[in-house]
Amino acid sequence: MSETWITEKLHAHYAQSLRVDEMLYDSKTEHQRLKVFQNGQFGRILTLDDVVQTTEGDNFIYHEMLTHVPILAHGNAKRVLIIGGGDGGMAREALRHQSVEHVTMVEIDAGVVDFSKEYLPMLSQGAFDDPRLTLVINDGAAFMRDTQDKFDVIIVDSTDPIGPGEVLFTDTFYGHAARALTEEGIIVTQNGVPFMQGDELTNTMRAFQALFSDASCYIASIPTYAGGPMAFGWGSHSAKGRDVDLATVQARFAAAGFECDYYNPEIHKAAFALPGYVKKLIP
Ligand code: SAM
Repeated sequence: MSETWITEKLHAHYAQSLRVDEMLYDSKTEHQRLKVFQNGQFGRILTLDDVVQTTEGDNFIYHEMLTHVPILAHGNAKRVLIIGGGDGGMAREALRHQSVEHVTMVEIDAGVVDFSKEYLPMLSQGAFDDPRLTLVINDGAAFMRDTQDKFDVIIVDSTDPIGPGEVLFTDTFYGHAARALTEEGIIVTQNGVPFMQGDELTNTMRAFQALFSDASCYIASIPTYAGGPMAFGWGSHSAKGRDVDLATVQARFAAAGFECDYYNPEIHKAAFALPGYVKKLIP
């Protein structure tokens, strides 16, 4: 019996292939080619332009680390902004915090939201119906330029810097985001896999150093983002969030009252310990 495989060619000299046990959806949205397929190892997989965005099996690592680290480091985050995040996984994790009063999610592609609701409901787990969520269909860069609101935590859950996601890696976008953060607010960004996409991290860190008094990054390994740990950019006008000690994170996590499959307070603190080759990418 012949097998079908999807090959992700995100990098010039390296590709990864995933077996398609069943193609559940394959269509072009207004912005991107969207596929959802079943895979024996990872469950349902969402790709945009044949680049893996999220999988049923390993999305918990990515979503938990981009939400709970900044929200618990902040300690009193009430207003959260998600840029991108169309599959709803980021909103799902942010809304687990009862202390979060409002989440604004700005996604450029309504198609991703609609398909994810239908084909990947395990990703959002009802987040789109939560009254604390406002979904805005717009370019995240345009929203950031125009918003007068301030946010305690901004999470950039973007595609890679090709196609519609490119604007979310520009100094202009980061500058507008810095303006939209509260005094002790924290921005976190998906910054690719530094072993494969080192420039992405270097460029974001250079921009963050110019904009924030506290600029850094933290890491976690996500199986389908191949090539070693992924980097998450971290920027804040205050060092308070990153300096938070383990006992405080433990107390805040206990008060939040839920369990995670990847995140815990020890992982939170350890994630900021960077390997030498990653440190060298930070100017
Ligand atoms: N973590 C994934 C990765 O790196 O493979 C990406 C997750 S996916 C939820 C990213 C989302 O960002 C997609 O739904 C895409 O439509 C959205 N996106 C891309 N460019 C955008 C833009 N300029 N404004 C808002 N959303 C955007």
